[in-house]
Amino acid sequence: MARKNRDEIASWNVEPEPVICPLCERVIPDDQKENHHLVPKSKGGKTTVCLHHVCHRQIHAIFTDAQLAKAFSTIAAMLEDPAVQKFVAWIKSKPPGFSDAARESASGRGRK
Ligand SMILES: [Zn+2]
Ligand SMILES: [Zn+2]
Repeated sequence: MARKNRDEIASWNVEPEPVICPLCERVIPDDQKENHHLVPKSKGGKTTVCLHHVCHRQIHAIFTDAQLAKAFSTIAAMLEDPAVQKFVAWIKSKPPGFSDAARESASGRGRK
């Protein structure tokens, strides 16, 4: 996929348009928004997409930076991976604001 200039759109966000996660196609609540570099920053990538925190974390759990840079630098490519498909099928059954904080600790607030 060709590189798209999304900066202009981003700096123009007066309208509270719902942001849709390209991975799981659910709306992303404000506190779940996270930018993912399609090509990792460490590999010189600049294009980012907005994903759910959980989706973003899952991508990095599945792929290494090298894999992302080489073979999975588009959402479409990632969606062809069975591990991603499995995750997406699972996350789609969850509400948009779902975070897997419960899995990590009972007091999920303020972690980082
Ligand atoms: Zn990322
Ligand atoms: Zn998502």
